[in-house]
Amino acid sequence: MPAIEPDSQPTVTPKVRALLITGGCCHDYQNQKQIISEGLSKSIGNIDWTILQYGSGRDIKADIYQRGDWIKGFDIVIHNECFGGVEDGPFVTGIVNAHTESKTPAIMIHCSMHSYRNAPTADAWRSFLGVTSRRHEKSKHSLHVVPTDAGNAHPIVRSIGNAWDTPNGELYVIEKVWPSAKVLASVHSDETGNQEPVIWLNEIKGTRVFGISLGHHNETMLDKTWQAVVAAGFNWAMNQ
Ligand SMILES: [Zn+2]
Repeated sequence: MPAIEPDSQPTVTPKVRALLITGGCCHDYQNQKQIISEGLSKSIGNIDWTILQYGSGRDIKADIYQRGDWIKGFDIVIHNECFGGVEDGPFVTGIVNAHTESKTPAIMIHCSMHSYRNAPTADAWRSFLGVTSRRHEKSKHSLHVVPTDAGNAHPIVRSIGNAWDTPNGELYVIEKVWPSAKVLASVHSDETGNQEPVIWLNEIKGTRVFGISLGHHNETMLDKTWQAVVAAGFNWAMNQ
């Protein structure tokens, strides 16, 4: 007798288990953690959030990273942290290795790019980010963001259209784009005379990393274009 096909069951998509690590110097992390998590939940839905906020010191070594299995149980980690004063090399490589050994994707926002820059192993962090940056422009102002290859922009930045003028901004100066990274959008800096990458993808050891250096001001994060780009970056990082 032919096997009887079971009735199809409604599929329940499991929630994405997302970890947001935030805190450190110079930014309004109290509100930004809400803006990021609520925005992504609204765009994507079905996210189970764990949010860890640390203090405002730039030399804080977030205790979660000191647990060997800290990344276990999470599908993605969003870093919106600003710990530029941490100089513990093994601590920094430990964060990177946790990602690459488990192939857990990451979203890196704004000051995460300047975190750990004084550690002797800072290049491990930078290779994971996909860029090297140590400073930002002196003045804060609206930034004119243009997609790479505007007529045929990557889907992640399609919400930008031909250009997006951020409400306010602090432009990071990018010294180097690592070979594994792909720049999706940039801003011309009058200060350096260069197009500074602001949105990019990186893939390292089979691990997806979405980077966005825009996000100093809450009003930038609240902008619908920032929200759309980060949601698209989240989906790319999750390979969904
Ligand atoms: Zn900033």
